[in-house]
Amino acid sequence: MSGDLAREIAAACRAALPCGRPLALHEPTIGAAERRSVDACLASGWVSSAGPFVARFEEALCAATAAKHAIATVNGTSALHLALLAAGVGVGDEVLLPALTFVATANAVSYCGAIPNFADIHPQTLGVDAHALDRYLKESAGRGAHGAFNRVTGRPIRAIVVMHTFGHPADLASIAEVADTWCLTLIEDAAESLGSTYRGRHTGTLGRLGTLSFNGNKIVTTGGGGAVLTDDPELAERVRHLSTTARVNERFNFTHDALGYNYRMPSINAALGLAQLEQLQCALAAKRELAARYDRAFRAVAGVRFFVPPQPDTSNHWLNTLILDERHCAQRDRILAMLNDEGIGARPAWTPMHELPMYRGSPRMPLPVVDRLARAIINLPSSPSLVTHATD
Ligand SMILES: *Cc1c(COP(=O)(O)O)cnc(C)c1O
Repeated sequence: MSGDLAREIAAACRAALPCGRPLALHEPTIGAAERRSVDACLASGWVSSAGPFVARFEEALCAATAAKHAIATVNGTSALHLALLAAGVGVGDEVLLPALTFVATANAVSYCGAIPNFADIHPQTLGVDAHALDRYLKESAGRGAHGAFNRVTGRPIRAIVVMHTFGHPADLASIAEVADTWCLTLIEDAAESLGSTYRGRHTGTLGRLGTLSFNGNKIVTTGGGGAVLTDDPELAERVRHLSTTARVNERFNFTHDALGYNYRMPSINAALGLAQLEQLQCALAAKRELAARYDRAFRAVAGVRFFVPPQPDTSNHWLNTLILDERHCAQRDRILAMLNDEGIGARPAWTPMHELPMYRGSPRMPLPVVDRLARAIINLPSSPSLVTHATD
């Protein structure tokens, strides 16, 4: 029976993606414009972080997202680390974040000496469930002179990081309301959601700070890279300072006034990113078309549901997602094996954070939706090049 379902899923994928070659989960589209831009950078001699390319890339990010400030970093993980530090997250604090995310979201909290506190997700958005969060805080948190604290562990709860899963915007308005009630700093891990909007505003710009990733599998890539977005000039300055070893600008001396990091994006990556950003609208159109094709192809397949977010027009549809009916979840790995044997680069969702050895002891609310969906999700090939092709 599962063999039949796997064959039906493969057939639906082939119907949505009429091309014979093996299909990676997500691959970048690199064209002549990218090569010209990187060539110009190499020819200029500005290959490290100094020079005009990084600043130009940051300006382009501000233009693309309407953020007032963007600080480019070496990857999305370092952007998260800096955003948390700038928000004042420190040793012994707790930070709420979804249990279903890429491990970087939780690791960045740990790098600050803070402890992740895992939240459940909403089945319709795949992002943090505001109502479950509210219930959890009412049951387990208290309010002190310095904000919220965990009544069980006694530790301050400083911030909440929301993540826009597979590019689909989380329910930011409801989450922001809970964050306000509990004096939690709202940070958005928008690593997957460049191009996605919430009520007309770009994801990553609704929280106090937001972060992006430009890893090779994201919708815009710089090879490796990330950025912090914020409208607050002081937070922007703090992030920029920490990303450049907290160096005090003096003409000749190397002097540093805090524990800083070497997290600044190099120019070669920024040059690649400048050309990639020009293609964002094209990539978004391709992604939305691809999601619509999958949606059509899977309508007739019983036993699975193609995930469609509440407002499909606002999502970048970074990774397409199939959700197995409960009765088929035990067969997921066999289905994955068969799809991959047929050249369809399908993958499961991440192992939930609370199942990883370093986070098993972390505080958490009941996680029924994460526990159910983590076993049911299959991500499907999602490269924009499956719809459009590089022009050269
Ligand atoms: C990609 C990603 C990041 C950042 O990853 P880097 O590889 O460090 O750029 C962070 N969070 C999520 C949810 C991601 O998908």
